[in-house]
Amino acid sequence: MSDLISVIVPCYNEEASLPLFHQAMEGVMAQMEDCRFEILLVDDGSKDGTADVMRELAKKDPRVSYFCLSRNFGKEAAMYAGFCHVQGDYAAVMDADLQDPPDLLPEMFRILQSGEYDSVAARRVSRAGEPPIRSWFARRFYSLINKISEADIVDGARDFRLMKREMVEAIVAMGESSRFSKGIFGWIGFRTYWMPYENVERVAGETKWSFWGLLGYALDGIVNFSHVPLDIASWFGILMTVVSFLAILFIIVRKLLFGDPVAGWASTACIITFIGGIQLLCLGIIGKYLATVYVEVKKRPHFIISESSRDDVKRIA
Ligand code: UDP
Ligand code: MG
Repeated sequence: MSDLISVIVPCYNEEASLPLFHQAMEGVMAQMEDCRFEILLVDDGSKDGTADVMRELAKKDPRVSYFCLSRNFGKEAAMYAGFCHVQGDYAAVMDADLQDPPDLLPEMFRILQSGEYDSVAARRVSRAGEPPIRSWFARRFYSLINKISEADIVDGARDFRLMKREMVEAIVAMGESSRFSKGIFGWIGFRTYWMPYENVERVAGETKWSFWGLLGYALDGIVNFSHVPLDIASWFGILMTVVSFLAILFIIVRKLLFGDPVAGWASTACIITFIGGIQLLCLGIIGKYLATVYVEVKKRPHFIISESSRDDVKRIA
C-alpha cells in the first residue's frame, strides 16, 4: 500500500482562499502519484461561507473531509482537532491562505523518505510584506524564548511541517489546554530538517492576528515553556532584601553619628512607590502562571465538533 499523507488545514473565514488552496493541492497530489492523501479541513467557527465551501469540496473530492467546530476556538485548537483525526502515515499542517506553499510538499516528503529525519519544517528566511514592527518584535521574541526555555524554537519557523505518525501521537498526547504549537513541536524532540523558503503573502482574505493578539500569544508561549519570569521575580525579591538591609545599616550608622534630623520624606516616597511597583510586577508574573494553572485544572475540552463529513469523528476532546 502506498503511503497516506494527512493534510490538516485550520480555517477561519477562508471562503475566498479555500478553493484556491484546494486547486493548488490538486496539482501537488497529482505530482505525488505514489502517495494517497486525505485533506482534513477544520472550520474554526467561521462567520462567512467557509463551511459551505468545505461541504462542496468534500462532495467533489473524496479525499477531503471536514470538521466544523461549534465556535471559534483558535488556530491551536483547530490544529489539535485535526491531529486527533489523522489516519495517515504522515501528517502535514498547512494554512488555507497558501502562505504555506503546497509546492514544498514533494520535496519535504522526499527528505522524510531518506529516513534521516522524522519531520521537515518550513522556515521563512525573509519576512517581506510584513510590517517592520511586527518582524522586529517577532525576532526579539524568538531570541528571548530560546534563551529562557527548553523548547527549541527556530526564528521564522511556521507551523507548516510534514511529520511522521509517531510525532502526531506525541503531539496528541501533549494534552495541555493552552497550546503553543511551536513550543510543543520543539519540546517533543525528534529529528527535524528545517527547510528555508521565501515568505509568501496570503492569496485572499486577511490575517487574523492583531498586534495585541500576537503579543498575547508570545506571552502564552513564554509562560507555557519557561519558568524564568518566576525566577526573575524571586531574584527581585532577594535583591530588594539585600538593598533594604544595607539601607537599614546606613540609617542606623547615620543616626548614631549625626542624630536624627527630620528630612528625606521625598526619598521615602520614592522608595515606597519603587518597591510597590516591583511587588505588583512580581504579583502579575505569578498571577499569569496561576491563571494558566487554573485553565489547565479545569480540563475543559480543546474543541467541540458540531458537524463533520466523517462518522468516526471524536466530537469532543
Ligand atoms: N486560523 C484559525 N483560527 C483562528 C485564526 C486563524 O483556524 O482563530 C487559521 C487561518 O484560517 C489560517 C491560519 O490559521 O489558515 C493562519 O492564520 P493567518 O493567516 O491569519 O495567520 P498569519 O499567516 O498571518 O500568521
Ligand atoms: Mg496567513
